[in-house]
Amino acid sequence: MYLYNSASHKKEEFVPNHPDIVKMYTCGPTVYHFAHIGNLRSYIMEDVLEKYLRYQGYNVKRVMNITDVGHLSSDADTGEDKMLKGAKREHKTVMEIAQYYTDAFFSDCKKLNIKRPDVVEPATNCIAEYIDIVSKLLEKGFAYEAGGNVYFDTSKLDQYYVFNDHDEEDLAVGVREGVEEDTSKRNKNDFVLWFTKSKFEDQALKWDSPWGVGYPGWHIECSGISMKHLGEDLDLHCGGIDNAFPHHTNEIAQSEAYLGHHWCNYWFHVHHLNTNTGKMSKSKGEFLTVSLLEEKGYDPLAYRLFCLQSHYRRSLVFSWENLDNAVTTYQKLINKIAALDDSDKTVDQAQFDALKEKFNHALSNDLNTSLAITAVYDVLKAKTNDGTKLALLGDFDKVLSLDLLEKAAAKRAEQAKTKTATTGGYTIQGEGDPAIDALVLQRAEAKKAKNFAEADRIRDELKAQGVEIIDVPGGAQWKRV
Ligand SMILES: [Zn+2]
Repeated sequence: MYLYNSASHKKEEFVPNHPDIVKMYTCGPTVYHFAHIGNLRSYIMEDVLEKYLRYQGYNVKRVMNITDVGHLSSDADTGEDKMLKGAKREHKTVMEIAQYYTDAFFSDCKKLNIKRPDVVEPATNCIAEYIDIVSKLLEKGFAYEAGGNVYFDTSKLDQYYVFNDHDEEDLAVGVREGVEEDTSKRNKNDFVLWFTKSKFEDQALKWDSPWGVGYPGWHIECSGISMKHLGEDLDLHCGGIDNAFPHHTNEIAQSEAYLGHHWCNYWFHVHHLNTNTGKMSKSKGEFLTVSLLEEKGYDPLAYRLFCLQSHYRRSLVFSWENLDNAVTTYQKLINKIAALDDSDKTVDQAQFDALKEKFNHALSNDLNTSLAITAVYDVLKAKTNDGTKLALLGDFDKVLSLDLLEKAAAKRAEQAKTKTATTGGYTIQGEGDPAIDALVLQRAEAKKAKNFAEADRIRDELKAQGVEIIDVPGGAQWKRV
């Protein structure tokens, strides 16, 4: 498989360090609020990546952190404490907030068919690991104490801007507008490893450390959690593109300084989900969550399909109209699969292999999910038997996770319930209940005789029985609602 590596700025063949395992790390959510669907785009694409690696036969161990402490509202160690902000807003303790939004996050993931990583570790579980790393960084001269905090000294590195497509001046802390410069720092990009001098007097979570009572910086948690569960090397590190700087840059700085060798081989970054007015955020415009999609009647898997239709390294523009288009595509796809004969169990192996090759070709080229969806249509259009098609679609769905066969089976079951009765050229489609059919026919006759009051009365009577009628050319359809 070829993957674009943000660290080298090119597509590279993916070769894991150890033949028996792929070590994969994902930056998890900061659990002070619901995730918006822009955050979830990253997790959907990372899920596809993990599943595709497994599909190719790799044994993957994936670890994710849960940021339940220490992430300030600016990525650069300044601003408010996000967890504390959430707790104050909802009159709960910080840990109650963390638990509530962790559960909400995984509930959203489940609705989007995002697999839970093998290890999910809250940051507050690994304080000893962070203290160990910070102690060693101080010992090795990569860190210093100043103004009550411990900082990483970026001037000690040969190279700091590893993702150097970023412009140093644009991103340097202290020159960003509205960010107050921390005068304890020796260099503008130094970052906090351990806070003892909290700006927040009511900081709820604090731990003892060799440098006084305090709490870890945000970046250190991912290095600590990754090394705790995956050891001293990492194949693949994932996150949203806004994590590249400063978060991932700082993770590399501290991890490699601590280990004394190269740490992670491939960096996978998912680009933004934008709205028509710019980057999606919690504070701007409508707060788009999975629950909101459901309230508006959208199947969360239609959103998953919407994400799969575009490449993870392109910004994607969300609008309700674009989502409606994905819903239509999804429904048509399910209808086509439902029309296949599921009693056909024979598989033409040569056809199966040829069509699977197209799917593999798409995903092994930097996870081209939109071409993988095209491969699904190629299966539907192929001149082969339905058994082969269904076997392929089930196989592809191990990666796509769109519930293609399950939804098609539900559609078939719904269609099987529909029975048609024709009386005097008038066709009634329903569940084959003669009493209901008779009322539907009476209503049609009332309408024909222009007795609309009677027609409405019958409609209401059916409604009272939980039956809804839809007039269609040449007849009517009814269903229980
Ligand atoms: Zn991280």
